[in-house]
Amino acid sequence: MLNHPTCYLSPKCEARAIGHMLYGVFAREPLEKNERIAVWGGEVLTRANFDALPDRLRRLSVQIEEGLFLVALHEGPADYINHSCNPNAGMDGQIVVVAMRPLAAGEQICFDYAMTDGSDYDEFECHCDAPNCRHHVTGRDWRKPELWERYAGYFSPYLARRIEKLKRGETV
Ligand SMILES: [Zn+2]
Repeated sequence: MLNHPTCYLSPKCEARAIGHMLYGVFAREPLEKNERIAVWGGEVLTRANFDALPDRLRRLSVQIEEGLFLVALHEGPADYINHSCNPNAGMDGQIVVVAMRPLAAGEQICFDYAMTDGSDYDEFECHCDAPNCRHHVTGRDWRKPELWERYAGYFSPYLARRIEKLKRGETV
C-alpha cells in the first residue's frame, strides 16, 4: 500500500492554503508554455464504482475516458489545482497538466474543469472572478464552441474526440 501521494507536482510549483480548508497550487518560479506542472495518479474506476465512493474521495477525481474516472487514493499537492474560467494551465493527455502560456513566479495555477469533465458528477457555482466567468460550471461546458478554440490542444483526449464529432455534425 502506498503511503505517499499518488500524484506528481513539479518542484517549480507548490500548494498553499488560500483559505479555511482551501488550497491552491502556485508557481514558485517561472514556467514556460507547455511545461509540465503535474501528473495525476490513482485508481481507475468505472462510473458505478465511482458513484459508490465517499464524497471525500469523489472530490479528488478526474474523468479520464468515456465512463472511467481516476481517483487519488492518497491526496497530494497536485490534487489541489483549482478551476478557473480563465485558466493558465491545460491538459496534455488524460493526466498531465501543463502551462498554457508562460507563467510568472507567484501565479496561482488553474485549469478549466471543462477540459476534463464530460459527466454530470461535479457541477458547482464558480466564483473565480474572471471577467468571462461562467458562474455555473457543468459537465456539459466542453460543448461550448467558444472554448474549443481557446483550449485547442488542451482538452482531455476523450473530450477532444467528442468535439471533433460535434464539428463533423455527428451527435455526441
Ligand atoms: Zn468562473
